[in-house]
Amino acid sequence: MTDVLLRNGLPWGLGAPADILVRDGLIDRVAPGIDSPGALVVDIDGQLVLPGLVEAHCHLDKTLYGGPWVPHSADDTLAGRIGNDLGRRAELGVPSVARIGALLERMSAAGTTHVRTHTDIDPLVGLRGVEAVREAAARSPVDVRQVAFPQHGMLINPGTAELLEEALKSGVEAVGGLDPAGIDRDPVRHLDVIFGLAERYGVRLDIHLHDGGSLGAWELELITERTRVLGLAGRVTVSHAYALGQLDEAYQDRLIQGFAEAGVALVTAAVYSFPVPPVKRLRAAGVTVACGHDGIRDLWGPYGSGDMLERAMHVAYRSTFRRDEDIELALEAATHGGARVLGLEGYGLSPGDRADLVVLPSGSPAEAVIVHPGRTLVMKDGVVLHN
Ligand SMILES: [Zn+2]
Repeated sequence: MTDVLLRNGLPWGLGAPADILVRDGLIDRVAPGIDSPGALVVDIDGQLVLPGLVEAHCHLDKTLYGGPWVPHSADDTLAGRIGNDLGRRAELGVPSVARIGALLERMSAAGTTHVRTHTDIDPLVGLRGVEAVREAAARSPVDVRQVAFPQHGMLINPGTAELLEEALKSGVEAVGGLDPAGIDRDPVRHLDVIFGLAERYGVRLDIHLHDGGSLGAWELELITERTRVLGLAGRVTVSHAYALGQLDEAYQDRLIQGFAEAGVALVTAAVYSFPVPPVKRLRAAGVTVACGHDGIRDLWGPYGSGDMLERAMHVAYRSTFRRDEDIELALEAATHGGARVLGLEGYGLSPGDRADLVVLPSGSPAEAVIVHPGRTLVMKDGVVLHN
């Protein structure tokens, strides 16, 4: 494998220009004026260098990306969107290996090197989504990790829990949950099943929680308590957690303290006008925050580009971040936060880290988030993918 020397970059966090020498898929050195005979030298001319972007919450199996535009056809209710999704899947050929592949190609070109995707599992679709994502991922340089996701409820949809277990047996990396109270109507039993699976198969857990207000807040307490009692710190994530964004600050602070102590992470998509968790206070308390698109051009909605810097911009904007150091919190969610949620090792821009890098023409991390210009170079495991 040829060494690559990125000449004259601006590595995020270093505060000064430097060269980056990549050897055997790893970052070997970061310093000014590196001399490395025989290396492929790429002058990146003072451009910003970020670690590979991490998409921590999407739904690859549902995407219509890469095919002809499909006008949105659901009504404005949740039930309408679920019915639309179930009703038109077959007609539109969802899940589609080709479309998932097209989206992964787009994500990779935009600098995403790692993806966590929630794949629908229910008695109708079975494990077809899991298999389609696996097939597309095998042909892509992007590291894709799946969550076995009971999109249409688990307890209310007999056979789903057994299929989740089958998915984990087949190697799916994480187990999901969905509104233990609002959808499944029995939060204790719901959490019994998914935490039980997470423990038995040694996998991570990522729970979709749309339930709002005091109901959602109570579920956050239940999830935090389980995580603490079972010693699953760093392995449990709550996605969306709309309730958290709706509570008064005192209650928010109590929940945030609980997440920090138990090691519960949060993922936000900052979509539409749904509540966004208080990113700055979560980070100040040491809680991991990551972000992702949620759906990308699918039967649930037409939005989403696959660009994680654009997604970070949405997180910053919805959080009313204006100062550079605040905007960088959104970038952190799209990079290091996602890496922690996925459990990536050797992630970052230090010597010894995996050489997963993205280069773009920005003079600062905040500018990269706001402008999200085209990526000029993307590297995965030391291999230049896009240049
Ligand atoms: Zn989702």
